[in-house]
Amino acid sequence: MFNIKKILIFKFIYLFRKFFSKEFDPSISRWLSKRNWSHKSKLNKKIEITTTVGCAMMCSYCPQTQYKTQGKSLPVTMDFEIFKKAIVNVPKDYTIHWTGYSEALHHKDFSKMADYLKVMGYQQHLGTTMFGRQKSIEYLSYSKVFKSINFHLPDDENLMKLKVDDNYIKGLEKAIRFQSSFLNKKNLDVMVIGNDFHKNVRKLIDQLLHEKVLDNSQIDIRKHLVSRAGQVEKMESFKMNERNSKNNKNNDKLYYCSWGRLGQGVMLPDASLAMCCCDYSLEYISGSLINENLENIYMHKKLFYKKNYENEEKNFFKGNFSPCSRCEFYKSI
Ligand code: SF4
Ligand code: SF4
Repeated sequence: MFNIKKILIFKFIYLFRKFFSKEFDPSISRWLSKRNWSHKSKLNKKIEITTTVGCAMMCSYCPQTQYKTQGKSLPVTMDFEIFKKAIVNVPKDYTIHWTGYSEALHHKDFSKMADYLKVMGYQQHLGTTMFGRQKSIEYLSYSKVFKSINFHLPDDENLMKLKVDDNYIKGLEKAIRFQSSFLNKKNLDVMVIGNDFHKNVRKLIDQLLHEKVLDNSQIDIRKHLVSRAGQVEKMESFKMNERNSKNNKNNDKLYYCSWGRLGQGVMLPDASLAMCCCDYSLEYISGSLINENLENIYMHKKLFYKKNYENEEKNFFKGNFSPCSRCEFYKSI
């Protein structure tokens, strides 16, 4: 969509840097990198939570192996007491996203954690494949704690390695019927990455469409992949955004994250915060919620404070920072 506000802001930054000063580059880059410029310029007030190391689905379009390898030193599952300690450091106006690098329903205490967040007054979003602990699956058929849900479901080519049996379909149906009974349609969607849903899932969706439990605006057949900082190979019949080609000799440009992910870290099972949902290799850990407030971590001092950014390797706004330098969302002005 044509975004006049975005055009004016970027024009202003361009002219300011050209005719006045580049002294404010770190602050400008940080400000830009916490806003999602693909759709809107609103400040991200989010944190993602990953409560386990490893995800059983092993989707072909996910660098899950990197996460499993690099996450070896982490606890396999998050301890409930650690979770509570970390949440104290997340301000109440942040939305908690049950997303990140694994399936939230895998955790034995998922329902306990979600209930705890509700009592503490947090808004919650859930992204789920509906594969996990039976207790977690049943939770979706009676709990009203989520303000929005994205059902990410198996495809017709087995890209998501999930066994679709009668039990799975039953749990999925119950969850969709219940959550649709009170969630606004724009807050519940059913998504597949691929050509179409697995045939038994498709049958269920058609039935729910026929009964008007769902409508077509809630069905998302996605043919676009995110490279996850260059770790996902291009796949036939999927689109992928190209990376910004960087001219290393041109030190004049200012780099930023156009997906606003410096304001949407991923909490890991030990309560440390990975940079963003693209960094499956856990290359950059922004801080730990055990001993630091989230807003303080989101200042990303190591990336923007002078004594640190003089180090070329950590030079986020100059375009040299890895993993961002492999990512299609790393843009320049
Ligand atoms: S894309 Fe999601 S469901 Fe698939 S393996 Fe990765 S984390 Fe698991
Ligand atoms: S890896 Fe990509 S999405 Fe993540 S902060 Fe860097 S540029 Fe943004």
